[in-house]
Amino acid sequence: MTMQEIHSAIEKIGCLTFTTLDNTTMHSRIVSVCGGDDEGIYFLTMNIKPFYRQLKGNPHVSVCGIYPSGRKEGKNKVGQPYWQPGFFLRITGEVREIPEDEVKKKAEGGSEPHRYALEDAERYPAMRLFCIFRGKGEIYDYDFEMENRDHKLLRTRFAFGGETVREAGVRIDPDKCIACGECREACTFKAIEEGDVYRVNGERCDECGSCIQVCPQDAIEFPETM
Ligand code: SF4
Ligand code: SF4
Repeated sequence: MTMQEIHSAIEKIGCLTFTTLDNTTMHSRIVSVCGGDDEGIYFLTMNIKPFYRQLKGNPHVSVCGIYPSGRKEGKNKVGQPYWQPGFFLRITGEVREIPEDEVKKKAEGGSEPHRYALEDAERYPAMRLFCIFRGKGEIYDYDFEMENRDHKLLRTRFAFGGETVREAGVRIDPDKCIACGECREACTFKAIEEGDVYRVNGERCDECGSCIQVCPQDAIEFPETM
């Protein structure tokens, strides 16, 4: 997944929830992202705010959002809440404050987020520009009713700024699997492929655990965190 694809997804969502850690207390708030480039994802805050102090004290952030943001009312065929097709996005990353001279230089070079930051700082002198310069994340693209495709989930993981990310999904131990097919029967996400030993397609796996419950061989391992 390219940075441009990540930026397009963020642009669709508009505002993201940013969570910071202040000593042992987590704080979340909605933040409008003002753009992105190959170096990262940009946002603004004022240097008098607790958010600013938290970012300076601990630059690690957790970010998430959903598109579309509203859920239609109603139930699906099996009585569960209906979800219009869409996606969740989440990123775990690290931020840095962009120094004023760098903001000016890049704005002069035509960078849109830096130009916007410069203009906003003229209105609000306490405004400061930050960039998530390193991170990893995923886009969880869901179509739970299979309206537009024949499976529910497409999960795409990504990393930038030198970060690495693990594959999504549970994993079947090939040394334990006896190819009985119980897991494939149980998986409503169509994430399990048959074979001499069965295999999980991590991009489709919701990590729901239904397969783990039914496997007679205890062959399916819990997912790793991102
Ligand atoms: S249920 Fe377990 S043993 Fe059977 S196919 Fe799936 S992973 Fe293999
Ligand atoms: S954890 Fe859920 S979605 Fe993933 S393979 Fe197992 S049953 Fe399918």
